Parts: sequence; structure tokens; C-alpha cells
Amino acid sequence: MNLNNTKGIKINKEEFMKNRLKIIAILFASIFILNSCSEDKEKFVYPLWEGAEWVDDYYIVGKLDEQTYAISEPKVNWYYNTSYLILGKEKALLFDTGYGTSADKNIMSIVEKITDLPVVTMFSHYHFDHIANVENQKSVWLIDLPYLRERTTDNKLKLTTRETMQFSSPTVTVSKWIKPNEIIDLGDRKIQVLNLTGHTTESTVLVDEKYKQLFTGDFFYDPLLDYVDLADDTDANLLINSAEKLIAKYDDSYIFNGAHGFPKQSYTTLKKYLSFLKSYKNKSLDSKINLTSTGFQTVYEKDGMRITTSTYGGSATNQLIINVILGLVILILLVVFVRKKIKRRNKVK
Ligand SMILES: [Zn+2]
Repeated sequence: MNLNNTKGIKINKEEFMKNRLKIIAILFASIFILNSCSEDKEKFVYPLWEGAEWVDDYYIVGKLDEQTYAISEPKVNWYYNTSYLILGKEKALLFDTGYGTSADKNIMSIVEKITDLPVVTMFSHYHFDHIANVENQKSVWLIDLPYLRERTTDNKLKLTTRETMQFSSPTVTVSKWIKPNEIIDLGDRKIQVLNLTGHTTESTVLVDEKYKQLFTGDFFYDPLLDYVDLADDTDANLLINSAEKLIAKYDDSYIFNGAHGFPKQSYTTLKKYLSFLKSYKNKSLDSKINLTSTGFQTVYEKDGMRITTSTYGGSATNQLIINVILGLVILILLVVFVRKKIKRRNKVK
């Protein structure tokens, strides 16, 4: 009896080890399948836009005209952030500090190589991929919106996680407030500051009449990239209103420099963008659900333009929480299913 018992335990242990291996193998297989289902965003082979050159192993820089530089970060996956350095006779205006990655990938090291002028920084909006090193920017001019002013004490404004789409909330030291539509003078170069909502509430667009160009932030950028992430406070109706305003006010003699991908987008592309947004609003676009690195995303696509929205809606944080819960539920169900199957097979044996 004792002997039999020992033998029985031995068999169970072996079975248990076998089953455990099976469970692990199935888990790995599921992860592999989920991964291959997940949509691989088109891989960029770091294309350079015309006139751009690598200035180190991270940034590319090119001149848009005699007094304007575009500084891109092609290696940041599909983000391909592009920030702008706008020079006047007295001041330089840096529009966005980009994605950055660490202290040594700081756009100021590039800016200092280009100009000796005092630099002021403005932001197209406060999402994390445009405000690298924001806490250390010396002279920051912010768009003067009441809800931002109200939160500012002693010139310090703590950004919210909703504004940055990040878990951290950095503090900006505000040197100057610029009213919407105000014209700032960099010295023989006047720049108008617009507040064009849609992507975010504080979304800022700069207009340079001297070289007939607009700096459009994430309101409108290179359609080669993942177009608009309609998440959180991004609103299609507001985007449509803002696009209509620009189309009415400017024409095809202007170029549009967005905050991702290639600068110098055309007025024609802006018009195409507007009609795309309208199709989205009218629900006349086909959609598909993709599993991406940020969870399930609904993708709407037409004529090379696309909008992605989080499939369950809500903020990035909600999305993350739902993804984790969903992942856990799938995992538990999978384990229960496998264990049941193994038990049943053992019974049959
Ligand atoms: Zn962005």
C-alpha cells in the first residue's frame, strides 16, 4: 500500500510537471498569436525630408528658408517629431522641444549650434511628445487661456496628466503670456499666435506672414504618419471648425509645417484633411479594430489619411486600465480552460 501510494504521488508529480509545461507553452503561443495579430505600424526607414541632414545620431535639421529651421527626431518610432526654430533679428522662437529621450537628447544642444540669439520657447500643445525637458526651458511663453492662468501661481504652472498624457505632471515656469491672435515680434519678423482647438484645448498655431507659412503643431501634420489620435480631449467637430477657419483665411501660397513627420505640407493636403474629418463625422468611413501597443484601437482610413480612436473610448489611462483588466480576464479564462481540458483527459486515461 505504501509502495503504491508513493508510486501514485510520483505519477501525479510527473503529470503536474507535464501539464505545467503545456500551460506555459499555450501561454507563449497565445502571446505570440496576439502579437502577430497586433497591427505593426508602417516601419519608417528614417526618411529625410528634402534639405535635411543628420546633425548627430538622433536629430536631423534642415532650413525651410533663410530664417527658419526644422529639427526632426526620425528615430522616435512613428512619432517622427518635428520642432521649429524661427529666427528674428533679436530673438529666436523655438516651437516645441520635441520628444527627447534622455538628458543627452536635448533639442537645446542643436538650437545652440544654430543661433546665438536669446531663445524663447512656445509649445504647440502639452502632450508628452512635444514638451521634452519642459521644466528646464528658461524662457517659456504660454498661450494666455483663462483656465491656464487660474492654475498659475508665482509664474509656475503644473501641467496635468491629462494635458501631458503621461503619468508625471511637470511644472512650467511661465515668462510671458501671449493672448490668442496676438502678434509677437522677434525683430523684423512678426509671428501671429492662434489658438486652434481640436487636438487639445490649448493647441497653438503660429502664422508667419514673412515667409507665408504656418506652424500647425498636431492640429495638422504629415499624413504619412498615424494621423489623428482622437483620444481624450481631441474633438473632430472642433478640428473641422479650425480647419475651415484656416482654409478660409489662407490659400495655396502658404505652406503648413506640422509637428510630426515632413514639414511643408500643402494647402491641398489641408483641404483633403478637412474632407476626411467630415467623412469621419458623417460616419461614412470604414473602420477596423486593431490590437496595437496601446491596446485595441479603431482605425478609420481613406485616401492615405487615418484616424485612430481608442476602441473603448475615454482617456489613455482608462484605456490602460481596461487593457490590463481585459488581459487578466483572458489569461484567467485561458488557464481555467487548459486545466479543465487536462483534467478531463486524465480522467479518460
Ligand atoms: Zn504629437
